[in-house]
Amino acid sequence: MSQLKAWRAAIVHCIADPKDVGIDAAYEYFEDGLLVVKGDKIHALGDATQLIPTLPNDLAIEHHPDAIITPGFIDTHIHYPQTDMIGSYGEQLLTWLNTYTFPEESKFSDKAYARDVADRFLKELLRNGTTTALVFGTVHKVSVDAFFEASEVHNLRMICGKVMMDRNAPGYLTDTPESSYKESKELIDAWHNKGRLHYAITPRFAPTSSDEQLKLAGKLLSEYDDVYLHTHLSENKDECAWVQGLFPKSKNYLDVYDQHKLLSERSVFAHGIHLCDSEYHRLHETGSAISFCPTSNLFIGSGLFKLSKAEEHNVNVGLGTDVGGGTSFSMLQTMNEAYKVIQLQNENLSPIKSLYLSTLGGAKALRLEGKVGNLAVGTEADFVILDTRGTPLLESRLALSKNIEESLFVFMTIGDDRAIQATYSAGQCVHKR
Ligand SMILES: [Zn+2]
Repeated sequence: MSQLKAWRAAIVHCIADPKDVGIDAAYEYFEDGLLVVKGDKIHALGDATQLIPTLPNDLAIEHHPDAIITPGFIDTHIHYPQTDMIGSYGEQLLTWLNTYTFPEESKFSDKAYARDVADRFLKELLRNGTTTALVFGTVHKVSVDAFFEASEVHNLRMICGKVMMDRNAPGYLTDTPESSYKESKELIDAWHNKGRLHYAITPRFAPTSSDEQLKLAGKLLSEYDDVYLHTHLSENKDECAWVQGLFPKSKNYLDVYDQHKLLSERSVFAHGIHLCDSEYHRLHETGSAISFCPTSNLFIGSGLFKLSKAEEHNVNVGLGTDVGGGTSFSMLQTMNEAYKVIQLQNENLSPIKSLYLSTLGGAKALRLEGKVGNLAVGTEADFVILDTRGTPLLESRLALSKNIEESLFVFMTIGDDRAIQATYSAGQCVHKR
């Protein structure tokens, strides 16, 4: 028996940022492609008719003539504890947190409750073709244990962290600078780089952390080579004004994090909507990344992310759902809303750039390129089979499509979890529709 497994279908993946090389050179497309997996890694990729003669005779080939294979999607900002509060009505950020988020997050002191939500959350990600995510826990240490234990079951490449929050939140949800440092460190030692898991130091956002807590978060970040920093930045105008009032000595919002040594090549800031030039510049200079969360930015009424500004300053950008402020677990639907956010600024977001942001761009933002993000030989076999017959409308619309770019654009405009035929993580099937 050969150890190899192969999938034959149309295959598309990004190999560079369209901004750097132009759209045509940014992706590879095989109309009749073959993806060959050995164990948990990609062994070969190319035209089926050319590759098949080079492979063992007993190779098992799964043929999907009505499918397109893409890399697994990467969600660079999401809150697993907010799974059950998606679609909460009528508030903007600060009241939304107090009205909906904090009461729900209080339930995660119960590990059994947290594990139940984590299991359902991961199932929802996999149904939507998302194989890697940068995930908020709650202030409770057990919320992160529960999440990582659930992720281990499916051998997923996941990043998570315990929220650090010691002020401007209900007493039942706050920690202290010392306890947040100690518990985060214990979680790093228990989980970081265990299998495919990674830890992110996770202050919720500047308003809910004291100077002392942010200082200890910076100290913790400096104590490890490759731990992540994950927080929110400049999402909502009232929030920005509040931050200025709380940290009067800071030059701008980002400077609060900068002064506490929280900018790094593994720092990911969600939203970054209301930034000035010097903030983009500083993000670039430190190798920090922004997670662009269009469904959330529209739903909570936060504003329009300026992708062209981030590009102009060479800031790494990934795409995020930000569930439960975001309204869909689907990265296809997130690309749909991203397109509209860019349209409202009289610019276009090409389908290849969208694919890039949700795969290789996300991997680059998370410094995981070479491991996940595309289908290059030697990378981990995280991929998605998109079904061109996922819905009657997809089938009829895609029949008229003239090329792969148009097909991708149709998937990202009218596709959702019904378009995901199967999801694979490290070569294993983790979802089949
Ligand atoms: Zn968020």
